[in-house]
Amino acid sequence: MGLVERHGMRQLSTGDMLRAAVKAGTPVGLKAKEVMDRGELVSDDIVSALIDDELASMGPEVGAIFDGYPRTAAQADALDTILAKNGRSLAHVIELDVNEDALVERITGRFSCANCGALYHDTANPPTEAGKCDACGHTEFKRRPDDNEETVRTRMAEYRAKTAPILPGYEARGIVSRIDGMGAIDDVAGAIDAILRS
Ligand code: AMP
Repeated sequence: MGLVERHGMRQLSTGDMLRAAVKAGTPVGLKAKEVMDRGELVSDDIVSALIDDELASMGPEVGAIFDGYPRTAAQADALDTILAKNGRSLAHVIELDVNEDALVERITGRFSCANCGALYHDTANPPTEAGKCDACGHTEFKRRPDDNEETVRTRMAEYRAKTAPILPGYEARGIVSRIDGMGAIDDVAGAIDAILRS
């Protein structure tokens, strides 16, 4: 069981929402595609509107895990406004501490089953039988177009330039927890569990 099921929360991933928009060919998707392929950031207004709509559709009893949002100071401000409008507030900000070279290796090697979405990695977690999904037996897999080394390096540069600077503001509010993101999946999930329970 994943974090979302264990805590009865909903994962709001702006990356997933944007990829769905690209796939569906919506105006937002058409605008976002090339920016995403380069690893740069999509405009603040677009992503904050996606989060605003999604949160408005959720009952107040369901908690939200924001994944990949906010990524800029303007998005952090927008999130405060959106949360206040919905009578919510931020309980925790979790910083995953990672080694960039190891992260590049993790991201460039990852792929998923085209049918059920099960996640794999070329060397760390390949399917038991090559070319066949362990979970559903499907034989087609997919990779994100932005999971190549050049784009991943741009995504990291964007993080350093625009996202890391929003952490001090959250630190001043006393809501930041930092965990080692390089551990095994279960250890990272366990550390996040402990924070969500605190
Ligand atoms: P992710 O799935 O979080 O790795 O996001 C993939 C890509 O979607 C990013 O490299 C950006 O181009 C775009 N994106 C996702 N979330 C945001 C965000 N909060 N602000 C701006 N761009 C975003």
